[in-house]
Amino acid sequence: MFGRLLGNVCQRVPSLSYRVSLTMKPQVVFVLGGPGAGKGTQCSKIVENYNYTHLSAGDLLRAERAREGSEFGQLIANYIKEGKIVPVEITINLLRKAMEETIQQDEKKFRFLIDGFPRNEDNLQGWTRVMDGKADVKFVLFFDCGNEACIDRCLERGKSSGRSDDNRESLEKRIQTYLQSTRPIIELYEKQGKVRTIDASRSVDEVFADVKATLDKEG
Ligand code: ADP
Ligand code: AMP
Repeated sequence: MFGRLLGNVCQRVPSLSYRVSLTMKPQVVFVLGGPGAGKGTQCSKIVENYNYTHLSAGDLLRAERAREGSEFGQLIANYIKEGKIVPVEITINLLRKAMEETIQQDEKKFRFLIDGFPRNEDNLQGWTRVMDGKADVKFVLFFDCGNEACIDRCLERGKSSGRSDDNRESLEKRIQTYLQSTRPIIELYEKQGKVRTIDASRSVDEVFADVKATLDKEG
């Protein structure tokens, strides 16, 4: 898909700078951590300071849930309320579309923070099936934060977020999903030396200082 997209643009635009940037494969940083670990907060700060586009799997799913005429709206709503992981076919297509649209609008925007993905084995297989060879996963930014702190932050966020899953019942299920399904994925990447762990239990600014140090080192 990206090859086709890049090919189409290439035919239209012959200039050297275009051709140079078009050789750039999408560069991806996966952002993982428990619910409320601060993934979204830190991604916003990264976007302010670096040339990254933030794509949150959760935000994309919530937008699809709200989209009029979506055939998946009800299914997504049920999964989110239960803290379960939505089938990968839905999530991967939303991610792929968002990446393609971003590059189509500005071919220099080929760096992505993919937040809340891959959350389980199914997600990982879906990524490999659809995106292998089409995007480079540089590393995994892992926001490490205790479960209790995560729950407290989400309950606090729930006072104003309007989210159907920022309540204690959903959160306990989300934490279980995180521990059972997402941690093994982080461990898998750890074995490949691809995980950059950030202690996310500290203040937003302290966490971001470590994020900056990591991104500056990675280049
Ligand atoms: P995630 O995207 O991982 O679910 P968010 O970035 O939405 O988490 O953060 C969850 C809640 O915790 C938000 O209300 C946010 O303002 C707050 N928060 C984020 N990072 C911190 C931090 N380092 N210390 C305290 N509160 C935080
Ligand atoms: P988040 O906004 O990251 O806290 O995600 C909220 C909810 O969206 C999760 O509890 C899941 O139900 C769903 N979700 C988020 N990311 C994914 C994903 N990668 N795959 C499937 N479902 C997801």
